Amino acid sequence: MAMMIDGAALARQIRELVKARTAELAANGRVVHLTAILVGSTGAGELYAQRQKETCAAVGINYELITLRADATAEDVAATIHRLNRDLSVTGIMLHLPLPEHLDATELQYQIDPVKDVEGVNPANIGYVVYGHTLIAPCTALAVIELIRSTGVTLRGAEAVVVGASEIAGKPIALLLTEEMATVTLCHIATRDLRAHTSRADIVVVAVGKPGLITGEHVREGAIVIDVGINRVKQADGTSRTVGDVVFEDVERKAAHITPVPGGVGPMTVAILLRNTLRSAELLFSKPKDLY
Ligand code: NAD
Repeated sequence: MAMMIDGAALARQIRELVKARTAELAANGRVVHLTAILVGSTGAGELYAQRQKETCAAVGINYELITLRADATAEDVAATIHRLNRDLSVTGIMLHLPLPEHLDATELQYQIDPVKDVEGVNPANIGYVVYGHTLIAPCTALAVIELIRSTGVTLRGAEAVVVGASEIAGKPIALLLTEEMATVTLCHIATRDLRAHTSRADIVVVAVGKPGLITGEHVREGAIVIDVGINRVKQADGTSRTVGDVVFEDVERKAAHITPVPGGVGPMTVAILLRNTLRSAELLFSKPKDLY
């Protein structure tokens, strides 16, 4: 029977560390300040922002939301980002997704100063990871690495299989695992025999968005299984619940360690965003101010 990797508990530890360090900085007159941009005032976007504000407040991080009109042009959004890049009181910037259809997320994320890019989504930050000079890495990928590390496994030389190859999840996860010297296989929709890959892995990370994709037959005895998937599924009684991509009850019988959904990667990703926000501020504070 697998041991459960408690993402919520690990997230709590990270938040405590961020809170302590943020307080130390504040005592020296250094304020950690995250500004988020929401384009179009949707209920879901505002609710998410409100939660984020509370999460930041709990660790002493200032949070400010700038809401732009849904018909804001790419130039409008870019101008806001550029103003925040220059603003010395803003230490971190993030752009809420999804954006209205007429806007290209990557193009706009590219405008965020790489040091202030708390989500690690500016293509430049991915580039720095590739070259081994990480400034800010993507949150979900960092969360996955922390969850794997918490098991005590040696990543160096381990066989790691990542299922799902998106820019937001699978590819950055594979990159960070490579940085950790794991031997990495990246599977995706065109992979011919998924099970042949996953069933020989020491570590299986699944980030696809398909409930039931990974069963007990896909993993070997003693594997570490990290489920990034978040899916809402309808149950027989008409209610819905959140599940991952892994058939938990099946896989937990074979794996040595497994993350639950919810309570695994999700809360860790939120905590890592806070840690990245602190890191952005520390990177800025350690640089001469006239650079910005
Ligand atoms: P995406 O749709 O952008 O990418 C899905 C990937 O899975 C693609 O690379 C595709 O080739 C691959 N894929 C599709 N079907 C497959 C199959 N049958 N076998 C193997 N590979 C297959 O999705 P995404 O944005 O990367 O999100 C994936 C999941 O992770 C979603 O459930 C999403 O909600 C979740 N997610 C969670 C977090 C978090 O913080 N916990 C963050 C990001 C994404």
